[in-house]
Amino acid sequence: MELVILGSGTGVPSLKRGSPAALIKAARQSILLDSGSGTLTRMLQAGVTYKDVDAILYSHIHPDHSADLVPLIFACKYQEDPRTKDLLIIGGMGFRDYFEGLRWVYGSSIEPQTFRIHIREVLTDEVEIGALRVTAIPLEHAPESVGYRVTSTQGKTLAYSGDTDYCPNIVELARGASILLLECSFPEGMKVKGHLTPALAGRIAQEAWCQRLCLTHFYPPCDHADIKKDCRNVFPGEVLLAEDMMRIRI
Ligand SMILES: [Zn+2]
Ligand SMILES: [Zn+2]
Repeated sequence: MELVILGSGTGVPSLKRGSPAALIKAARQSILLDSGSGTLTRMLQAGVTYKDVDAILYSHIHPDHSADLVPLIFACKYQEDPRTKDLLIIGGMGFRDYFEGLRWVYGSSIEPQTFRIHIREVLTDEVEIGALRVTAIPLEHAPESVGYRVTSTQGKTLAYSGDTDYCPNIVELARGASILLLECSFPEGMKVKGHLTPALAGRIAQEAWCQRLCLTHFYPPCDHADIKKDCRNVFPGEVLLAEDMMRIRI
């Protein structure tokens, strides 16, 4: 399984960090985790096009995580090179209504002709994507927030938080994971409700006995703090700080 960080930032524009998105490549599947603004271009850099992605897993529908959904579907309609394989889109409760709203706004621009879109809402569910097993669990951020745990055929596991505050479910999601891709929005002393700091992120990884921890979703102040040190004070395991286009073998 390979993880490519497409965007390690937030909704705040940054030349260094794109909006949240990551790509999982495993078992001949390409799965997007969220799709913030700029994801389509970053996908090309990662060697994946709008035609290749098999599924998109949305942690929640805040614009920094979902902005490139409409551009992705619109690109799939490009007549010279249209997408033909079906696209599975998974989101938390209410995602279907959100997508209906997009249809109401964009009409035929996002109505596929050469493939089908399958929408699936999850709460605590298990979904098969090819040979991969994906489980979802609600997290503490927005009402529709869910985290995902992707298990490969070799038993490797990646847990992804999207945005979340500390809660028992994120520890459950990350339990024993090969890698936990976890938000770390703000440095110590700048905690905001619904988000994590390095020490809280470390606490989650420690309580869940994760093998590796990769922090992402950095607001600008994070780039002026020693995030890794503050996290490693709590979690002695391997800590990675996400950068755009970072590739991680799992
Ligand atoms: Zn966010
Ligand atoms: Zn959010």
